[in-house]
Amino acid sequence: MKKASIVSVGNEILSGQTVDTNAAHLSAELLSIGVPVVSSFSVGDEIEKIARAFGLASADADVVIATGGLGPTDDDLTRQALAKFLGVELELQNELLEKIEKFFAGRNLQMAQKNKIQAYIPAGAKALPSIGTAPGIMAESEGKLFFALPGVPAEMKRMFEESVLPELRQYASGQAVVVKKVRCFGAGESTIAQRLGTIMQRGRNPLINCTVEFGVIILHIVATAENKDKAEQMALKDEKLLRNTLEKLVYGSGEQSLGEVVGEKLAKQGKTVAVAESCTGGLLAKLITDIPGASEYFTHGWVTYSNRAKTGELGVAADLIEEYGAVSEQVAEAMARGARKEAGTDFAIGITGIAGPDGGSEQKPTGLVYISVDCNEGCQTKRCLFSHNRRFVRLRSAQTALNMLRLKLNI
Ligand code: ATP
Ligand code: MG
Repeated sequence: MKKASIVSVGNEILSGQTVDTNAAHLSAELLSIGVPVVSSFSVGDEIEKIARAFGLASADADVVIATGGLGPTDDDLTRQALAKFLGVELELQNELLEKIEKFFAGRNLQMAQKNKIQAYIPAGAKALPSIGTAPGIMAESEGKLFFALPGVPAEMKRMFEESVLPELRQYASGQAVVVKKVRCFGAGESTIAQRLGTIMQRGRNPLINCTVEFGVIILHIVATAENKDKAEQMALKDEKLLRNTLEKLVYGSGEQSLGEVVGEKLAKQGKTVAVAESCTGGLLAKLITDIPGASEYFTHGWVTYSNRAKTGELGVAADLIEEYGAVSEQVAEAMARGARKEAGTDFAIGITGIAGPDGGSEQKPTGLVYISVDCNEGCQTKRCLFSHNRRFVRLRSAQTALNMLRLKLNI
């Protein structure tokens, strides 16, 4: 199987001034044509270092793609480094020089002497046409392909699409990769990994990778085969396997959010929901209404931040707050019940908690959140203790509330 490696060139990447979005873009694009990226290197603007990175990258992979350092200034050294790595000289390409001269003439500009360097490419290499002045470079050495692309993301993307992809499709024909995502909520990474056991073994095909986004565990199924159909079948088979193994922990696939799957189910069942929020300050209502068409099932959202709002708007008894505190199982339940009564919905959710960073105590620490879901069958309340920061506590609370509703809806 053909593999790729990326070399990102530029001091600004090492200093943190520029985020390496080129590598992310290339990795996704390469994977989509069945050429996984197996390593990625960041190097500063030094010939020696860049040449060495070409060596390391090509030791790992069959295709090496470098971005950045192709401009006309003294800190643009990728072409020199590639020539050095290949053991050849830079050669002036008269055709390229004419193109660059035309580019400037067409804009009524005087070409700076420095731009002439862009007409040089390593002997035996091929120039890739560009929208700016900097041509890209493609070279072949010992059966491996080397590309040098501009650093500016828009220029890089265009050159990759127009000049690199067609070459790679041919070079890597006979292999295809399909990626599918299975999204889970309700258990940590380690629990999920434990339940999956050998399914997550490295080296397995399909390979199962795991990422986490605010409590959502995303399992990536990467299936590699000789053609797209076969890879698709393998990925589908594993999707079923994951769903069967993880059961209720799986809520969706692809890019689906919890709000989306809950919304779909509510609409399908003709059910409605209202929310009463304290510590999440409207975030739960936002996640629900982020989905187009939410008006079909979402009726009311209260942000009852003060005790007065809780009693006044939702009818939470003042002595309940007095006795148990605003952050308590009893108040969360009263909020949910009150909201459902006021809104006349099938479901209502109440959330009350301490998002922090201050306001916690020994008995009621920061991150303590009570979430209640009320419906005809009764009221269910969950006590949660989230860690990290305020943003995290609030988002996890809203997500957990959606997940409780999801389970009630039997998804
Ligand atoms: P130029 O002709 O503009 O000098 P170049 O090919 O030499 O182009 P660089 O000088 O390395 O490219 O980078 C130009 C700009 O492109 C950088 O200032 C940065 O904003 C952006 N850039 C470079 N590398 C990356 C990267 N890996 N990811 C995202 N942006 C990048
Ligand atoms: Mg530059």
